[in-house]
Amino acid sequence: MPNKLKKMKENIEGRYYVDDACIGCTLCAEIAADNFRSNLQEGYEYVYKQPASVEEERLCLEMMDICPVNAIGNDGDI
Ligand code: SF4
Repeated sequence: MPNKLKKMKENIEGRYYVDDACIGCTLCAEIAADNFRSNLQEGYEYVYKQPASVEEERLCLEMMDICPVNAIGNDGDI
């Protein structure tokens, strides 16, 4: 279960976040490219922008479902 107390430091403030379970598979940054970015040096992803449209929300929810290590949460602070 994603832990908002273990968010990666680059996550933008808001509901969605990536926590420290991320293994840097880059799926979220490829599929939901408007919302996720990669820290290639450290080998993980983070939420770059909170979803601002129905389509972005759909993709972020989809990423929560398919993240292989369940590192994406949407219970962060608003
Ligand atoms: S899909 Fe999950 S494990 Fe893969 S980069 Fe995104 S947050 Fe990390």
